[in-house]
Amino acid sequence: MADTAQERPAATDGGTVPSDARAVLRIDLAALGANWARLDAATGDAECAGVIKADAYGLGLEEIAHALTCQGCRTFFVATLDEGRRIRHVQPGATIYVLDGLLPGAEDYYAGFDLRPVLSSLDEVADWRSYCRRLGRRLPAALHIDTGINRLGIPDGDVRALGADRAAFNDFDLTLIMSHLACADDQASPKNEAQRRKFDTLRAMLPKAKASLANSGGVFLGPKYHYDIVRPGIALYGGRALTGQPNPMQQVVQLTARILQVREVPPGETVGYGAIWRVDAPARIATVACGYADGFLRALSGPTGQPGAVGYIREHPVPVVGRVSMDLLTVDVTNVPPDLARRGGWVEIIGDRVTVDDLTDMAGTIGYELLTRLGRRVHRVYAGVER
Ligand SMILES: *Cc1c(COP(=O)(O)O)cnc(C)c1O
Repeated sequence: MADTAQERPAATDGGTVPSDARAVLRIDLAALGANWARLDAATGDAECAGVIKADAYGLGLEEIAHALTCQGCRTFFVATLDEGRRIRHVQPGATIYVLDGLLPGAEDYYAGFDLRPVLSSLDEVADWRSYCRRLGRRLPAALHIDTGINRLGIPDGDVRALGADRAAFNDFDLTLIMSHLACADDQASPKNEAQRRKFDTLRAMLPKAKASLANSGGVFLGPKYHYDIVRPGIALYGGRALTGQPNPMQQVVQLTARILQVREVPPGETVGYGAIWRVDAPARIATVACGYADGFLRALSGPTGQPGAVGYIREHPVPVVGRVSMDLLTVDVTNVPPDLARRGGWVEIIGDRVTVDDLTDMAGTIGYELLTRLGRRVHRVYAGVER
């Protein structure tokens, strides 16, 4: 092999990258663990749970759950029953809440896998109650009350009705009352305080139970928002929780991809679909094995009129030029020594120099979207753990 150990990208230091890997997502579990510990420390006595929905924001459900468990995390929030079942399989002792709530007719599934539905309507409460009565067991569940996001959650009128019906809580074990903030990423939004007050008002009508309001952004809103359990997701994975502010979390992901070929392109020629990038001086273009089917956003095609996405070969910046296609992107390597920009070499696409947030700012989206798209086709390497 032409690659010497020294030439291999940092992406390969946490595991073996097979020679057929075309793009590699390196997931730093030590950084993930440090992020969890930081959030846990920042929230005092509150318990720090882990939100691992959508395949742990695209980074691997089982692996992330395992790493968080090793760090001390005991409570997980997933979106779907299937995610809950997968976690139960590998974390028999974990407390698992399913944010989707109670799917009609799926009660056995929750009970069988010891999953806790996050009940989000009076109908769901009624179904869970009758199921528990039938079984003769007070099974655990959370209540999701809506304090202003108007998405999931029991509307306030229904919370009042529920609170007035104390018998409602005889049949099941109410282990958590939670709500979700609409604007936690914006510390200046008055909506945060309005939701927090409403949360307190509505909670007072319900039986005593643990309370949870804060997602990642909510953690940074201060102790009043922490209650008994905080539910960070994006901050665990190194993404920015607060808009327009420095991100204190450690970067968790690095994406590198292989150069498939390098070509000389003479002036007057164009590169890629739509011929949107025209060469004006002799250029060397590297075609890299990472496209929008790998999660690299097509909106990052260059040039867009704005400064565009840039990869790195070692310390050399390589701008993305031409349109990003399904499987490929093209970068300008004219200024990179040819022995570095060569077939089989690696380009760093996401790392310390270009973060997920940098790319999504350019593309007009959020880190959540990019992370959950990455990693379906790319080869994942987990680093930062002892095996
Ligand atoms: C996704 C989600 C979270 C985590 O949000 P982040 O912004 O990623 O921290 C917390 N609570 C609920 C209800 C969610 O849907």
